[in-house]
Amino acid sequence: MSNIKLALLGSEGTGKSAVLVRFLTKRFIGEYASNTNSLYHKRFSVDGRQLNLEVFDPCSQQSTESQCVLEEPMNWADGFIVVYNIIDRTSFLNANNILQHIKEVRTDGCKGEVPVCLVGNKQDLCHARQVSEEEGRTLAQEHRCLFQEVSAAEDHQEISVLFTDLIRSAAER
Ligand code: GDP
Repeated sequence: MSNIKLALLGSEGTGKSAVLVRFLTKRFIGEYASNTNSLYHKRFSVDGRQLNLEVFDPCSQQSTESQCVLEEPMNWADGFIVVYNIIDRTSFLNANNILQHIKEVRTDGCKGEVPVCLVGNKQDLCHARQVSEEEGRTLAQEHRCLFQEVSAAEDHQEISVLFTDLIRSAAER
């Protein structure tokens, strides 16, 4: 059985843990306090193929402050989910930096670019949005990655689809 390793990256408070918990449990955990790096395991089936999925969710406090948490999963993961908060433009600018960094570090010769999905979270708060869906889509096109706006608070379906698409891309490499 193949192992697929994914890493979540993005500014603190963008909802990385909430997105992951929604995918794993179909629930929204409003306050998810984690001050350590976490590694989750799940058996997952894509197109009838069984996979061992590992997902790395970095400790939030470190993720904006320290480069090392960015470096840790950078060479380990088979795919990345880069999360920004649609009501926080700074987190979108940071997502751009992270996408740039992934491209610099992880263009693996003959295998080509590592699969990435750019995720604009907190779509339920769109009345206060600072980043349009179009800007998100354009940034994803510039970096040739998948794109999805989601709400970890409200929906499971889109989060499930984005994980499935990313896992499929990672498994096909
Ligand atoms: P992380 O630091 O990126 O892992 O972010 P968390 O998952 O800890 O979420 C940060 C805060 O945003 C928490 O208070 C969550 O309840 C909240 N949050 C996460 N996702 C959503 C969402 O889709 N909508 C809303 N309204 N709040 C969210």
